[in-house]
Amino acid sequence: MDLTEESVDKCVLHKSFICNVCGGEFKERIIRQTKLKFISSDTDLHPNFEPVDPLLYDVLVCPHCGYSALNMFFNKVTSKQAAVIKREITPKFAARNYSKVMTFAQALDKYMLALITAIIRGSKKGELGYICTKIAWVYRLMGKDERYKVFAAKAVTGFEAAYEQEDFPICQMDEATLGYLVAYFKFVEEKYDDSLKWVSRIITNRNSSERVKEKSRELKSVIQEKLRGK
Ligand SMILES: [Zn+2]
Repeated sequence: MDLTEESVDKCVLHKSFICNVCGGEFKERIIRQTKLKFISSDTDLHPNFEPVDPLLYDVLVCPHCGYSALNMFFNKVTSKQAAVIKREITPKFAARNYSKVMTFAQALDKYMLALITAIIRGSKKGELGYICTKIAWVYRLMGKDERYKVFAAKAVTGFEAAYEQEDFPICQMDEATLGYLVAYFKFVEEKYDDSLKWVSRIITNRNSSERVKEKSRELKSVIQEKLRGK
């Protein structure tokens, strides 16, 4: 479905924010989740909503200093991180104009800014993995499969480290959901044995939700099919 001004007006709020890095005020469009209708979840867990894909409106970029983050992390910045951002990001940052009806290319630009900011401010590995997952989704939706694979692999690196070091939930994901993403992205990388290990871990964990278990079983049979075909 093509995104129209009308659907953006209905589902997106133009809200004022105060930047905790530079103190500047700016307006940015954010999703009104209650106005969206959930349709389905892709095999890589990208959720499909109508009429607007919230993936397009999930990053806030301060036009004054360049500080960029996912909406859920925007206010969580320490004074030490703010100093690093002012020193490392602001001098190189040029403000851009994003249209009301966001394109995937514009969303990608915002996610890249969020990723660079997250790396520079020393964000947790889980957050880096989550941003890379969103970047991977954007590339896939743009039809750029090679870039999708690159960012799927980066997401795995972040998530594997987070799995060992951080407490759940990680970016609102429980253990099974994060594990499933690792399994799926390893499948994308054609690391089938690794993928199967993660899938088994999810299926045998009594805390995994039935929804994730079901997706894991489906992935398991796809991989077994692949292995038989080799
Ligand atoms: Zn700012």
